[in-house]
Amino acid sequence: MTKPAVDLTIVGSIGIDTIETPTEKREEILGGSVSYACAAASFFTHTGMVGVVGTDFPDAFLNTWKNMSIDLEGLQTVEGKTFRWSGVYHENMDNRDTISTELNVFETFSPELPEDYCEAPYLFLGNIHPGLQLHVLEQTRTPKFVLIDTMDLWINIAKEDLTKVISKCNMLTLNESEAQLFTGEHALTQAAKKLLELGPEYVLIKKGGNGSMLFTKEDVFLLHAYPLDSFKDPTGAGDTFAGGLMGALAASGKTDKESIRQAMVYGSVVASFGVEEFSLERLTQLDRDEIEIRVTEFKEMCRI
Ligand code: AMP
Repeated sequence: MTKPAVDLTIVGSIGIDTIETPTEKREEILGGSVSYACAAASFFTHTGMVGVVGTDFPDAFLNTWKNMSIDLEGLQTVEGKTFRWSGVYHENMDNRDTISTELNVFETFSPELPEDYCEAPYLFLGNIHPGLQLHVLEQTRTPKFVLIDTMDLWINIAKEDLTKVISKCNMLTLNESEAQLFTGEHALTQAAKKLLELGPEYVLIKKGGNGSMLFTKEDVFLLHAYPLDSFKDPTGAGDTFAGGLMGALAASGKTDKESIRQAMVYGSVVASFGVEEFSLERLTQLDRDEIEIRVTEFKEMCRI
């Protein structure tokens, strides 16, 4: 059998973002779930991006992805404006308000996978409408491992579709508040139990700066976040974490629990670099050696 052209396919949003933190405002910068996730995965494996941009999308942003050797065969460019999102972070940088969301070309997006991507053994269904996530999943040929991410919006307005697609995935990832919203359970162990009943073997709950928890029916694994002195922009941290995790898992060629735990460490470390700057600015300057150094340091911090 010939090796597939990409090992990991990722679908999600591509946005031009305007972000304000307590100290800085940045306008029209590259964002979107698939942008962060592919950038993080690209350190480990050959990754294909599935998304949509408008004809206004800057060449400089395309070059950012090309320089990271992200495969762009699954990227659609359609007449119109690219999706735009803007948000303002509160003083604590944990919470933020969405100021505006302009769907633009994203409104009529129908993700179509290039032939090569259908064969990729690993698939990450990033945060888009669950109906579209299902459409992507149905185009693939028996992937080895599928991770799905979502957000409060889809839990509120498309829970039935979301439940259906979750049941077909190996792993579900969501934020602490989203897990509580989905299940009505405050305790994360209870929430995870209910989510595992939907079908996935693994439920990964992200807790922002407080790390993440991986639940299976048998056990739970806790991972702290890498402690940073300071950071500039937490936008996309969850997508960077999940993208790095899937990239590292795809590179290992495995899907067992121990390999997922190791991949979580890589995801967490890449996310810690990502938030040091806005957009992909830090990730474009990062190399694999820096990642390995921080992984070693991080593992030492977590050792009991
Ligand atoms: P996160 O910080 O994980 O919520 O990811 C932020 C990224 O998601 C930003 O770069 C936005 O462009 C993108 N985004 C914001 N709102 C949405 C939405 N409704 N659907 C998909 N992507 C979005």
